[in-house]
Amino acid sequence: MTKPAAKTQNKRLTVLGPQDEFPFECHAGLPCFTRCCRDITIFLTPYDVLRMKNALHRSSGEFLSAYTVTMIGDNGLPIVVLKMGEDEEKSCPFVTNRGCSIYSDRPWACRIYPLKPETTKITEKAGKSYYSVMDVPFCGGLRSEKVHGLSAWIEQQGIPVYHEMEALFKKITTNERLSQEKITNKKIQEMVYMACYDLDRFRRFVMESTFLERFEVEPEAVERLKTDDTALYRFAIQWLEYGLLAQHVLKVRPSVMAAKKQELGVE
Ligand code: SF4
Ligand code: SF4
Repeated sequence: MTKPAAKTQNKRLTVLGPQDEFPFECHAGLPCFTRCCRDITIFLTPYDVLRMKNALHRSSGEFLSAYTVTMIGDNGLPIVVLKMGEDEEKSCPFVTNRGCSIYSDRPWACRIYPLKPETTKITEKAGKSYYSVMDVPFCGGLRSEKVHGLSAWIEQQGIPVYHEMEALFKKITTNERLSQEKITNKKIQEMVYMACYDLDRFRRFVMESTFLERFEVEPEAVERLKTDDTALYRFAIQWLEYGLLAQHVLKVRPSVMAAKKQELGVE
């Protein structure tokens, strides 16, 4: 049986749990069709960039320079935003008369609409996700009679893999040590940008620098990193955990360790 949606204390927000339902239907027959794809701010996650650049058959560098702007967040880490067009309506570069031209690889923010996460640290720890339905006056889809079960909707929209990938990114962005002091070192900002967003450049860094002479990486893993962007992204996060958070998730070659110890004069 469907549970009724719970009201929060401020009485204005209805929070939905996994068993709840919400009304929504978006289709080309609505007068608002594609209106939501104009003049909006869409923050792109690293996994959004990975999917979008591959959908467009562009390198990460080409995609980032053509379609995004980068800012620095309060914690000093880079934030990537989708650049809207310069037309009067500031249209998303991927919107067409028939809808989204990269629909199967659209970013998380577009997938999750009309839901908005209401997850707190407590609910996150308990492994539970809650959402509210956004209040967008021009969106005719919100006035539909058609209802969706929240859990099924999340699955249908292909969201779980985005959440899985975002959880990896959060190991860096929500790390207590990093959030205590703002990162101002431009080299670190650049390192995070390359590893998280500019994956093709990170691949060249791994394959073409002395990286593999310094770190022990299994040959099969090296082969996978040459072609599998998701494996490369996972590896990039490990590299950041190692380099920024001093976590022993990568193994330095013994010969490199020995040379380093000798250089520092330690036994
Ligand atoms: S129904 Fe809502 S989501 Fe669909 S096109 Fe209209 S405004 Fe956008
Ligand atoms: S990426 Fe697609 S769904 Fe998202 S705003 Fe652009 S056109 Fe709309």
